[in-house]
Amino acid sequence: MKRKVDSTEPTEEDVTSSSTKKAVKKPRENNKGKKKEKDDIVWPDYFHDLFKVFKALNTVLAFVSSRKHLAMTFPVVRSSVENLLKRPLDLAKIAELKALLPNLIKFAYIPRNELRIHATQSQDQKTKRKSSPDYSLSAPSTSQSFGEYESEEQVLVLEFAENSRGKKENPSLGLSLPPSLAPAGLKKLVEKRNERFCEAVNELIGAASNEDPVALIQAASYDHIPVNPSSKSTSSAKVDTKDKRTIIDPKDRPTIDAVIAEVEEQDWYKGQIVDRRIFASREAANGTLDPPLSETIQQALSNSRKITSLYSHQSSAINALSREKHIIVSTSTASGKSVIYQVPLLRFLEDDIDSTAVFIYPTKALAQDQRSALEQLLWSCPGLEHIKVATYDGDTPQDQRAGIRETASVIFTNFDMIHASILPHEELWRRFLKKIKLVAVDELHSYSDLFGSHVAQVIRRFRRVCAAVGNRRMRFVSCSATISNPSRHMKDLFGLEDIEEITEDGAPSGRKDFLVWNPPPIDPMAPKLGRHSSMSEATALMRFLMKRGVRVILFCKIRKACELAMKTLRTDLSAEGRLDILEKVMPYRGGYSQEDRRRIENEAFSGNLLGIVATNALELGVDIGVLDAVIMMGFPYKIANLRQQTGRAGRRTRDSLAVLVADGLPIDQHYVNNPSDLFDKPIDDLIIDLESKVILEPHLQCAAQEMPLSKEDDVYFGPLLRELCDSSLIKTKDGWYHTHPNFLPFPAKHVSIRGAEEEKYTVVDITKVTAEGGPKIIEEVELSRALFEIYEGGVFMHQGLTFIVTEISHDSKIARVMRADVNWITSPRDYTDIDAVQTYRIREIKGSPHRAFYGRVDAKTVVFGFFKIRNKTILDVVDVDSPSWDRQATGLWIDVPRYVLNLMKSKGINAAEAIHSAQHALLNRFALAADLKTECKAPQKEYKATKTERKRPARLIFYDSAGRSGVSSKAFDHGKIIPVTWANDAIEGCKCESGCKECVHSPSCREGNEVSSKLGAQLILRTILNLEINEDSIPSQMDETDTPDTIIEADYVRPVDGVQVEAG
Ligand SMILES: [Zn+2]
Ligand SMILES: [Zn+2]
Repeated sequence: MKRKVDSTEPTEEDVTSSSTKKAVKKPRENNKGKKKEKDDIVWPDYFHDLFKVFKALNTVLAFVSSRKHLAMTFPVVRSSVENLLKRPLDLAKIAELKALLPNLIKFAYIPRNELRIHATQSQDQKTKRKSSPDYSLSAPSTSQSFGEYESEEQVLVLEFAENSRGKKENPSLGLSLPPSLAPAGLKKLVEKRNERFCEAVNELIGAASNEDPVALIQAASYDHIPVNPSSKSTSSAKVDTKDKRTIIDPKDRPTIDAVIAEVEEQDWYKGQIVDRRIFASREAANGTLDPPLSETIQQALSNSRKITSLYSHQSSAINALSREKHIIVSTSTASGKSVIYQVPLLRFLEDDIDSTAVFIYPTKALAQDQRSALEQLLWSCPGLEHIKVATYDGDTPQDQRAGIRETASVIFTNFDMIHASILPHEELWRRFLKKIKLVAVDELHSYSDLFGSHVAQVIRRFRRVCAAVGNRRMRFVSCSATISNPSRHMKDLFGLEDIEEITEDGAPSGRKDFLVWNPPPIDPMAPKLGRHSSMSEATALMRFLMKRGVRVILFCKIRKACELAMKTLRTDLSAEGRLDILEKVMPYRGGYSQEDRRRIENEAFSGNLLGIVATNALELGVDIGVLDAVIMMGFPYKIANLRQQTGRAGRRTRDSLAVLVADGLPIDQHYVNNPSDLFDKPIDDLIIDLESKVILEPHLQCAAQEMPLSKEDDVYFGPLLRELCDSSLIKTKDGWYHTHPNFLPFPAKHVSIRGAEEEKYTVVDITKVTAEGGPKIIEEVELSRALFEIYEGGVFMHQGLTFIVTEISHDSKIARVMRADVNWITSPRDYTDIDAVQTYRIREIKGSPHRAFYGRVDAKTVVFGFFKIRNKTILDVVDVDSPSWDRQATGLWIDVPRYVLNLMKSKGINAAEAIHSAQHALLNRFALAADLKTECKAPQKEYKATKTERKRPARLIFYDSAGRSGVSSKAFDHGKIIPVTWANDAIEGCKCESGCKECVHSPSCREGNEVSSKLGAQLILRTILNLEINEDSIPSQMDETDTPDTIIEADYVRPVDGVQVEAG
C-alpha cells in the first residue's frame, strides 16, 4: 500500500510532545509560496498584541542564538524580552505562541546540565541561575536515578527549534555552519520569522471560520505550558488527561493496528508511512514423530517446557535425524529450534548413556542461555539427571578443563576452541570424540566470508579426526532464521552431502505489520534543506509507542548512533516529564562491560524494560523476552540483518510491528522507492571460499599435526590438497605428510580464524575519584575505533551520557574521561590514505593494454580534528594533534589511465567521484568483499572550496582490512580476472539514474556513497577495458560549483625483483 506524502506543512520534529496536545487546526491547502499580506485578513487586536510579544521574543532569541556561549534559559530570555516590551511577560503568552507555531518554538524543561555549552562554564551558569527568577528554579530532584547516574535538575528553556542554516553544499551531510553573525543576516532572519508568525495567524483565522480564533489559540495554549519533570507536585497538578501519565501495562496495550491508526491521526503525521505490509497470523501446524518419543522424554518436555506436541518442522527435523540425515532448519526466529537439538540428544543418551554432543553458538551469551535450558530439560528427565553439561570456551579456567574433557557429556563451545584447543589435543579428547553423536551449529548464517571460510576448514579437520578415532556416524544439525539456500551453505561449510533441508515453518505466529517510514522534508517548500533525521523520527516514534505500552527495540547501525539515540530519548522524555518511561529504557551495545551487559539482558528478560536501544549486538538470539515492536534506524546494511532484526519482535500469538525508518542515504531511499525489494529479493548468498590456498594451507599444517596427512585426505580438503602437500608440507619416506617446521610447535597459533585480535584502549571514568569510588573502567575500545571515538576534548558517549575526554595516552592505551553534560557532540574530521608501495604481482587485463597490480599497501588514518555539533549545526571546528594510525596491508590496484582523467576533466566530471564509484562498483563484485576495503572519498575533503595539499593518486585500490590478510590475494586470483567487465556490465545494465546499490553504491561505504558519479565510473571502467568511448555523446557536467582538484595521476609503483606479468 502506497500513501502519498502530504507535503503541505513543515513537520513537527517532536512527535510525541505534540501528540498529547491539542493542536491548532491549520488549513491544509497549500499557499504555494504566494505571501499573503496580513492586511488581506483583518486581525483581532489580540493578535496584534501577540505579535508585539513575538517580535520582541524574536529579536532577543536571534541575538542570544548568535552568541553561542549564551544559554537560552527562559529567565535570561524573559528579562530581555520584558526590557523590550516594558511590561511583564506572561508564561501563557509563550504557550500561545508555541500553540501557534509548534514547529518553530521550543519551550520545554531540559536537564540543567544539557545547557552547559562549555564544561568550564558551570560556575557561570550557577550564578546566572541563582539570580534569575522563578521558572527555571526547581528544587534538585530527589533520587530518581538513571542507572547509576543521578538524575538532573531541570531548567526551562525557550528557543527557536530551527536555527537558520548556513549554505550547504551537500544537504545529506546533515551539517551546517553556524548562523551568520553579521547584523544584516540577523535582521533578515528576524524578518523571516515575523513573516511566519503572520502567515500562521492568517492560516488560523482562515481555518477558524466559525470559531473564535482567539479562543482557539488560548484553549490550545494550555497544553503547551511545560511541566517540570523533576517537580512531582507540578506534574500531578497538570495531569494530561489524554496521556494519563501512566504507562500502559504492555499486557493491556492496544493492538498494533489501533496504534498505527492513532499515529496516522496525529498532526505530526505527514505521510511518513510510505509502505505498509501486513503479514497475517499463522496457526501452529503440528507433526508426529516416527518413532514416537519415549515416555520419559515426553514427560521431561512437558514438565520442564510445557511442550506436549511438536511443530511440524520440529518433527520433520527429528524424523530426518532418525533416518541418519544431517539437517538444516531454516524457519522463523523463535520457532523453537532448540528442541531440534535437544530431543535427539535425549534420545541418544537414552540409547547410550556415554553418548556425547557438541553445541556450537556464535556468541557466549547465546551459549549461556541455551546451556541452562538444556540443563533444566536434563534435570527433569529421569535417568539423565546426572548428565554433565559444560561450557568450554576461552573463559573456562585451565584447572577445570581436564575435568570437562573427562566427564562432560555435552559441551557448549565455539569453533575457536575446536580449532585451537580441542583438535590440537585430540589425544586428550578421545573419549569424547569417539562418542559424539550430535553436533549442533546454531545461527548458521554467522559463518560466512573469511571467518566462515576458516570455519569450513576447521570442520573438515574435526570430521577427519573424529573419523580417525572411529566415529563416522555423528550427525550435524544446523539452524538459521535468515539464510538463502540453506542446504547449499551447509554443504559448503560442513563438506557434507546427505543433508535434509527443512523450511516449512510449523510455529504459530502473530500478525505482523511492517512499515517503511520516510522522514518528511524539513520544509516542503525548500527541498534543499533535506529531510528530518532518521534519529529524530525513530526516537519520537519510539516514545509514542512506549507511552502506549508497546515494548520497543530500536536498532542502530553503529555504536555512536546508539548513544545519540539514547541521549535524544533522555532529553525528550525528560522534557515531557516522562521520567517513568525513561527509567525503563536502556542502551545495549558492544564495548560495554560484561557486567553492564548481563544487567541489561536481565532487565530486558524480566520484562522490566519498555525500550532498548541497541546495535546489532542484540541481533542474534540472546533471549531478551517478548518485544512488540522493532524500529530500525536506517537500513541495516543487508537484507539478512533486516530479517534478523525484524525477528526480534513478535512471538507466537501476539501482533507485532516492524518499522524501517529510512536514512537519507541512497540505499535507504532505494528501499523507500522500491519497498518490495525488502521482501521479494532473496537474501544475499553467504559466501565462503574453499579454494583459497592462503586459507587452506595453514589449516593443512594444523591437520598434519593432528594426524599426518595423506593424499587421500582430499576427500576432506579438496583437490588443492595434493598440490599444497607437495609444496608446503614435509613428506616422509612412508608417504605421509607432516607439518612444516616453520609452523611448529603449535600450528594453530599461526591461524587466527577471526582475524587478528585488535589492540584495545581502556576508557576510564575519572569523575568520581573519591574515597569510596575510584576511577572506573567503563569501556574497552578497539584500536580501529578508538581513533575516531577518543580524542582529547572530544565527547565520548556511554549509555546515552556524555563524557569529555580529558586525556589519552597512545602509549599506555588509556583514555581518561569525565562526566560532563554538554549539549553538543563531536564528530571527528579524518581521512584515510591508502598508498601502494610495492608491487608483488602484475596481471594483464584481457584485451586491454592496462594492468592490475597486487602488492604491499600502506594505510594511514589521520584524525586531524573534530567538529563540535549541536542540532546539526557546527559550533566549532577544533584541531587535534593525534598520531596517525599507520598499518601495512596487502592490496590490489588498477591505475586510472591518463586518457580518461583528461577526458573527465574536459567534461567537468569530478575524478574523485568517478574513482570512488568505480571502486565500489568493483567491490560489489568481489567475492569476500566484506573483508576488503577501499579508499572512500569523504565529501568534506572532496567538496572543499579551498585548495588542498592532499592530492590522491588516480587509482582504484583495495586492501585487506585489519587482520584479514589473504583476501585481496584471493580477489586478485578470482576467476583469473579482476571483475572489471562484470562491474562495467552492472553499471551499463542498471536502469538507475545516478547510481544505486546494484551498480556503484556500496552499503559498506564509510562515507555513505555521497561522493559518487555513475557516469564517471563507467568511463573509467570502459577505458580500463579498452572499450570504445564516444566522447561526443558524453554530456558536459560543467557547473559553477567547480571545486579544486584532489586527484593526480598515479605514479608507477616499483615491483619487487623478478615479477612476471601474468596472463589475464
Ligand atoms: Zn544503479
Ligand atoms: Zn565509499
